[in-house]
Amino acid sequence: MPFFELQQELEARAAQGLLRQRRTLDSPQSPHIVVDGKPYLSFCSNDYLGLANHPRLVAALQQGAAQYGVGAGAAHLVSGHSAAHHRLEQALAAFAGKPAALLFSTGYMANLGVVQALVGKGDTVFADRLNHASLNDAMLLSRAEMKRYRHNDMAQLAALLEQTQAGRKLIITDAVFSMDGDLAPLPELLALCERHDAWLLVDDAHGFGVLGEQGRGSLAHCGIASERIIYMATLGKAAGVFGAFVAAEQVVIDTLVNHARSYVYTTATPPALASAVLESLKLIGQGDALREHLRNLIAQLRSGLQGLRWELMPSDTAIQPLLVGDNQAALALSEGLRERGIWVAAIRPPTVPQGTARLRITLSAAHTGSDVEQLIGALHELAQ
Ligand SMILES: *Cc1c(COP(=O)(O)O)cnc(C)c1O
Repeated sequence: MPFFELQQELEARAAQGLLRQRRTLDSPQSPHIVVDGKPYLSFCSNDYLGLANHPRLVAALQQGAAQYGVGAGAAHLVSGHSAAHHRLEQALAAFAGKPAALLFSTGYMANLGVVQALVGKGDTVFADRLNHASLNDAMLLSRAEMKRYRHNDMAQLAALLEQTQAGRKLIITDAVFSMDGDLAPLPELLALCERHDAWLLVDDAHGFGVLGEQGRGSLAHCGIASERIIYMATLGKAAGVFGAFVAAEQVVIDTLVNHARSYVYTTATPPALASAVLESLKLIGQGDALREHLRNLIAQLRSGLQGLRWELMPSDTAIQPLLVGDNQAALALSEGLRERGIWVAAIRPPTVPQGTARLRITLSAAHTGSDVEQLIGALHELAQ
């Protein structure tokens, strides 16, 4: 039995400061969490609007369970597609400004499904080097040719597109980069798609609900729309629930229903989750004040951390990574904050490139100005 080998691999990771371990929360998701029995002020969830524990979502989930039960019982194409799923898909399509939408169990599965359904052997996928792991895995699974371009490097992407002859072309990108917080140049990407007759898959996991008027996401934020864009967003981050959706032209959605393996061969999510997301969509749409508060907190953090030993990476979004560099140093900083009652996760390779370990600070509309002050104070203390 190769257990010994596995043990050695884990020990090697630990020696490099790369071992990953889970901590157990005893509380709901919120800026104030209880971990292993101790209270902490948390800056590492993706619950950007503070909806994950919102009483209206809790009530909607309970009401959904009372109406539809718990399990969906089957895949969508068998007997698992409920009226709650259907209503939610229509609402998501309208919210995203697209003709149709399709629910997936998770964002990871949505990305796998879309790329695998739309391209294959003989086609080419163009991908930003800093894309989320699920987009990278999706490319591999699709068996299309893979061309990765330097982060947001439109000149390199244009050259790669120029050289590519055959097949379908699909550009895939995070809209808000998950570990960096910066935005993809979506208008330029769309212009390249038009010039080269390519599709654009936009993964808006961190923009949906947070950016744009009424929280409609990164496309609204940039003021672009096109039939070429396949829009994907997750429902477990700002929306505060679970799952993901893809919004696109009807023919694309019909293709996914027929060919996306991560859609076809899996059990539908509990319909009650769809009831909760429907309620969340209302709160997101009415959440301009939350988003404004969030923008103020971002500005407060950025100005409060000026001149600190470690620098915040360039980002205007709720993701504010503090670049540390060394793995052990990032862990030590995270530990130093923890001793001061503050929870911020250290992000290390291979999630981020070698030598760019960082604290991924995320802000939420549920934070207060004094929460952010506390973080700023603790980081200045630790920098001494
Ligand atoms: C979180 C995330 C995903 C995966 O979504 P899940 O619903 O958590 O599976 C996909 N893409 C990006 C950019 C993400 O940040």
